[in-house]
Amino acid sequence: MEIKINEIPAELKKDPAKILEGTLGFGQIFCDRMFKTTYTPEKSWHDAHIGAYEPIVLDPAALVLHYAQEIFEGLKAYKQNDGTVAMFRPEMNAQRFNNSAKRLVMPEVPVEDQLKAFEMLVKELVDWIPTKEGYSLYIRPTMIATTPILGVQPSKEYLFYVICSPVAGYFAGGFKPVSITTSEEFVRAAVGGIGAAKTGGNYAASLMAAKVAKEQGFDQVVWLDANHHRYIEEMGGMNIMFVKGKKIFTCPLTGSILPGITRNSVFTLAPELGYSIEETMLDADQICKEIDSGEISEIFACGTAAVITAVGNFSHKGVNHQVADGQPGDVSKNLYNTLTGIQRGEIADKHGWVHRIEI
Ligand SMILES: *Cc1c(COP(=O)(O)O)cnc(C)c1O
Repeated sequence: MEIKINEIPAELKKDPAKILEGTLGFGQIFCDRMFKTTYTPEKSWHDAHIGAYEPIVLDPAALVLHYAQEIFEGLKAYKQNDGTVAMFRPEMNAQRFNNSAKRLVMPEVPVEDQLKAFEMLVKELVDWIPTKEGYSLYIRPTMIATTPILGVQPSKEYLFYVICSPVAGYFAGGFKPVSITTSEEFVRAAVGGIGAAKTGGNYAASLMAAKVAKEQGFDQVVWLDANHHRYIEEMGGMNIMFVKGKKIFTCPLTGSILPGITRNSVFTLAPELGYSIEETMLDADQICKEIDSGEISEIFACGTAAVITAVGNFSHKGVNHQVADGQPGDVSKNLYNTLTGIQRGEIADKHGWVHRIEI
């Protein structure tokens, strides 16, 4: 893929030094450049370029706006302690993007082309990468269906673009545990549906449950399986894990669950840190009993945005269950420190996860 770099108009340029001094939050500020490429059946992917971050013009009948033919990814670039820049396992995101593309009947973007786009864009945006502990540049690749037609069908034309946002660590104020609740009424995804694809539709399905949970004072929703409303699947947009001493348990990838790259990394790191890890069906009633008996010593969720989030309180069927003393446990902290240490280049990268970018 040939990627052109276009000059951007002075009025669209922003001053990253000034922006990085302010409060960043998560996904609220966008870099002044973006990557774009267009797909047509005749020309395949073409016109790849990095230009100004600016609004996209779409026909009001574009398929994405009506039938949600859309996929996305989320990964991060980190300033390393030695001043270089690296992305964490970007080829995994690129592969998962193509798996999502297949499920949504969209064209794939070759992994090496995606990596080239990320690398060139991050290189252009090097001054936008925050250096503070826990901070990073969040990269959001997105593909949308652009053909204007109201008959339900896969689009003929697509736009693939990548935007970036400098983000704060989730735990600027320390490693704060969250309070979560199962949803008895709403489900996120069913086996056979699109739960294993990273696509906006799953998030649209999640909004109502999240709203109800917030109103009840919870931070996040725990999704139960769509068949029985009984087995624990995910927490919000993260995978969830349960700890009993030195054993970690999580649900298997049944087809309705997003296969997280952080989840995958925890599977590799856990045994190296002296923990076993096992995939098993997690009955919510049983989990509650095991929290109350103290058998479950920790619960944590994992995903790119927050890396590891400790769960202090688990609510199910209207009853709150405090997890141990409600504070982050050693396994969560250990995994968090190890993962972020590798990402920042402080801990040896034994598995080739750190993808350095020549600046
Ligand atoms: C992205 C995502 C995750 C976490 O995946 P990572 O690759 O670890 O960031 C988990 N669940 C859902 C629903 C997601 O969209």
